[in-house]
Amino acid sequence: MSEEKKAQQGEWRVARTQVENDDVTSLFLEGPVEKVKNRKPGQFAVIRVWNGEDWSEPHPFTISCAPGDGCLRFTIKNVGEFTSKIRDLKPGTPIQFSGPFGAFCKDIDQEKEIVMIAGGVGVTPFLSVLRHFREIKADNRVVLFWGNKTSADAFASEELEAMTRELNLKVVHAFDHVTPEDLPPSPDPERVVHILGYLSRDVLREHIHTPEASFYLCGPPPMQNAVIDELAACGVDPSRVQKETFSAPARPKKG
Ligand SMILES: Cc1cc2nc3c(=O)[nH]c(=O)nc-3n(C[C@H](O)[C@H](O)[C@H](O)COP(=O)(O)OP(=O)(O)OC[C@H]3O[C@@H](n4cnc5c(N)ncnc54)[C@H](O)[C@@H]3O)c2cc1C
Repeated sequence: MSEEKKAQQGEWRVARTQVENDDVTSLFLEGPVEKVKNRKPGQFAVIRVWNGEDWSEPHPFTISCAPGDGCLRFTIKNVGEFTSKIRDLKPGTPIQFSGPFGAFCKDIDQEKEIVMIAGGVGVTPFLSVLRHFREIKADNRVVLFWGNKTSADAFASEELEAMTRELNLKVVHAFDHVTPEDLPPSPDPERVVHILGYLSRDVLREHIHTPEASFYLCGPPPMQNAVIDELAACGVDPSRVQKETFSAPARPKKG
């Protein structure tokens, strides 16, 4: 290995990985966490992984843990070449980390009425915010709508259910690949709602306290477009909805 490449190895290492479900894995890093403790919940970082000979291409991921946590966590869906290898990373693997970046959910703790809407792994910025709220014992009123194909895809549902008892939080799960007979019962129907199908205006209207709440949306573009239309039908001004798409920006060259 060249001296230049060795020098780039940096201070971060894989601490461990944690399987969340068939497609999703959390990656925990250890390193100089005090350098990133001033980050905001919902921000992302760009990482490269050392494969023994060279660095991977850079990839952006939301930091899914709270800023006060003593490690860094990313929660990553397997969609391609890079993400399919995350689950097999060994503790000690060097990681290049740059960040934190982004302003999605910036100052969210100052908003009293919050509506979060996520599609699939787009829940990661909201997990970061809710873990932060749990840490600081926030009392902001939050409704989280989370669309997934089935309940097996809703990897953090048990932690979210526990959070509904600790925070002023309601969670609405929307499952669009489930038959009525297979819709799982809610563990606590007052705080955790299970519905069939997509997030329609009727579902949104039923659970949103006010169209004047602060709205945050993270999911694939087709889902975002559909949800914006449904929100508009509920009287929510689309320009007031903050959005994050997870669209990967053009990748800088390696080196
Ligand atoms: C700000 C930001 C935050 C992100 N946070 C997260 C996160 O917390 N968790 C997470 O799992 N991912 C997140 N992503 C997306 C993640 O960066 C990509 O999924 C990843 O880089 C894909 O790398 P790959 O080599 O495995 O897939 P590739 O080989 O590049 O792509 C494989 C296939 O997946 C498709 N694809 C790639 N990226 C996406 C995408 N973003 N959405 C839909 N389809 C895609 C490609 O079109 C291709 O068909 C984030 C992206 C951004 C920009």
